[in-house]
Amino acid sequence: MKPSLIVHGGAWDIPDEAVEACHAGCQRALAAGWSILAAGGPALDAVEAAVMVLEDDPVFDAGFGSHLNLDGRVECDAIVMNAATLRAGAAAGLRRVKNPIRLARRIMERSNHMMLIAEGAERFAVQQGLELCDPEELISETERAAWQRCKQDKHAAKHHRGHEQGTVGAVALDGSGQLFAATSTGGTCCKLPGRVGDSPLIGCGCYADADAGGVSCTGYGEAIMKVVLAKTAVDFLCRPETCVNSAAGSSCDLSTAEIAAREAIHLLARRTHATGGLILLDHHGNPAAAFNTPRMAHGYVKPDGTFFTAVE
Ligand code: ASP
Repeated sequence: MKPSLIVHGGAWDIPDEAVEACHAGCQRALAAGWSILAAGGPALDAVEAAVMVLEDDPVFDAGFGSHLNLDGRVECDAIVMNAATLRAGAAAGLRRVKNPIRLARRIMERSNHMMLIAEGAERFAVQQGLELCDPEELISETERAAWQRCKQDKHAAKHHRGHEQGTVGAVALDGSGQLFAATSTGGTCCKLPGRVGDSPLIGCGCYADADAGGVSCTGYGEAIMKVVLAKTAVDFLCRPETCVNSAAGSSCDLSTAEIAAREAIHLLARRTHATGGLILLDHHGNPAAAFNTPRMAHGYVKPDGTFFTAVE
């Protein structure tokens, strides 16, 4: 099996001044994941490594530099899913975990549960040898300033300029055919404390099924949940003949992966009138990305091993 990797850094109205940083972040994430896959390493390690790079990069809304909630605190969510077993590990409402994707992996591998939240999740992190950080360590000065602006003026859209970063995710297929998908987020700016969006919810922000492929989503979580977007995209992959909107009228050189990705975003727009994006790999490793936001930061490894990144 030929390995494959795709990553994203969120679908929003990414401002011009953040475009270079988004490209660079996606490149670094691809490099981290691909160094594992190209050496014959496992897809799980690859998605974890790629997502950790994106979590550590304050240009994205995950880990350090996440959006702040109404109280001015970071609360992170993450999930990883194994396509072969349909087993996932997810965590939500994390305040003191530097790399939420690491905890999601531990939950998948070392607990009997699929999802842990808040204090219980953090206690499990400590039991698993993951160090907790000071909540302040996750806050970037850019986000604090943006939060202050948003709070002062009823969260007016203009105050979001300069901090329109998004959720992150990765999907990887390794040489032995293992497929994993992962998503990590700080959620939405000025969210109510305790709010959990689509990202850590199985089938919503992430899904992986060896029969079809793996997906990681981004965008307005309350809408993504309504159409269970990641599972919907996987279902379209299984049944491309149902993709009447994206296949009809488009050029016939679109891959099944591209048609399924577009059809899922079409459904999100039609049924919820909301915006978002997704990345996917089909179970052969063919990549696709689709979004109805002005921009989405994403990238994948091309068949010749070079990296393609885009913020359009
Ligand atoms: N989907 C995320 C959430 O609603 C936000 C994003 O993708 O940027 O929490």
